[in-house]
Amino acid sequence: MFCIPDELLPFFIVTEAFLKLKAINGFKDILPDEVVRWQNIESIAQDVFHRFGFNEIRLPIMEVTELFARSIGQATDIVEKEMYTFADKGITMRPEATASLLRAFIEHGMHVQQPVQRLYTIGPMFRHERPQKGRLRQFHQINAEIIGAVEPEVDAEIMAMGQMIISELGLNASLEVNSLGCPECRPAFRESLVNYLRQYNDSLCTDCRRRTESNPLRVLDCKKPMCKELVQDAPSILSSLCKECHDHFQQVKDSLDLLDVQYSINRFMVRGLDYYTRTTFEFIAHDLGAQSAVGAGGRYDGLIEQLGGPKLPGIGFAMGIERLVLLLQEKGENTLGRQKQTDLFIAALGQDAARYSSILVHCLRKNGFKAAMDYSGRSLKAQMKKAGRLDARYTLILGDNELEQQVAVLRNMQNKEQENFSLKDKPIHWADHLKKILTTSLPVHERTDIIGREI
Ligand code: ATP
Ligand code: MG
Repeated sequence: MFCIPDELLPFFIVTEAFLKLKAINGFKDILPDEVVRWQNIESIAQDVFHRFGFNEIRLPIMEVTELFARSIGQATDIVEKEMYTFADKGITMRPEATASLLRAFIEHGMHVQQPVQRLYTIGPMFRHERPQKGRLRQFHQINAEIIGAVEPEVDAEIMAMGQMIISELGLNASLEVNSLGCPECRPAFRESLVNYLRQYNDSLCTDCRRRTESNPLRVLDCKKPMCKELVQDAPSILSSLCKECHDHFQQVKDSLDLLDVQYSINRFMVRGLDYYTRTTFEFIAHDLGAQSAVGAGGRYDGLIEQLGGPKLPGIGFAMGIERLVLLLQEKGENTLGRQKQTDLFIAALGQDAARYSSILVHCLRKNGFKAAMDYSGRSLKAQMKKAGRLDARYTLILGDNELEQQVAVLRNMQNKEQENFSLKDKPIHWADHLKKILTTSLPVHERTDIIGREI
């Protein structure tokens, strides 16, 4: 039998204790290699946002519970069972961003400075759902909102922007659009839908039987096969729209056509949040299986007023970053997940060499290069291994011997060619010389530093 020696026992006990500490189910670490992919997604989204005139807003992740109950709706799944609420403190971890964003918009009287605000925010959301592929309890969204504009062209513009983010990521998703009407025309539709559903009460799933009374529109997008089949013959919301909503929806479609944005109408699409009016939309990626929505949004024309703000319309969407990441992985998109190469690694051998190396590394970093060295004084072999791990383009082998003879070795790690590197001038010139080599060996399009200056 395997027996742990006494002197190692404390170590094993500690390790075992640590092994028990894991992230909470549904909460996930995003490790460095994956973070690169996230940063790319975020920077592409930010780039598109800036082109469309959006400004960033950063919001707290906790709000008073009432904000979500009043906006998302008391009878929605999110508010009924998915929120992380500290009941004794009356606060909740946000399950979505629109409510918080509008709270901030109202609180700071932002409409006074500018009648139409285009805002985006990126960050974590929290919902107590059953964790599975593409569904977490802490997940991250990219949110975009346009507040103060009622024109149907704006609906088309924001959908086109969402589609642009997806396509600039190299992904495909189809856009599905619907109109949910307004407080004028929706009650009549709701009534005719309830009347229809009640006839089939016995055939609906338990959830939908409950929803028929509390939130009947939700039955329209139930995923259970029986409910799905039953709603095929249910009244269509699109036939119940009042003239204003009908005309608005027609103009949204015309504007999408004008911008050459492909879409399909899905009259069964409703959203899990009560605040939506008129245009609603989803970006569906069929490669994602069950969790197929990468993004979703719509208009919320009465919401700002409902939250105690001015009477202003709004429209927005949210995209799930985890689902975008899954799509990129499924596409086999590896380049996005790669850390940036190290431009130069210095293998320093000896005390003096290490001092010079640290000056060189610092100087190169100041000039926008990714440079590294090892302070441990390990063997050349060990340091070369480290250079490999850091994916270095070049390694400078600099020892006390080389300092004495005033010549070091510069190794091109890709083609393994080595050249002598003169140490005759002052160290400041060594850095200049290295900068030149590192720049001219880069492909032309990469010859700018981190802030875009030519190097
Ligand atoms: P779903 O139908 O997948 O539950 P939803 O309608 O609840 O989505 P929204 O509240 O509209 O989603 O959020 C917008 C986007 O956020 C979704 O399209 C999805 O990409 C992402 N998202 C929502 N919930 C989760 C979750 N629990 N885990 C990961 N991503 C999520
Ligand atoms: Mg959901």
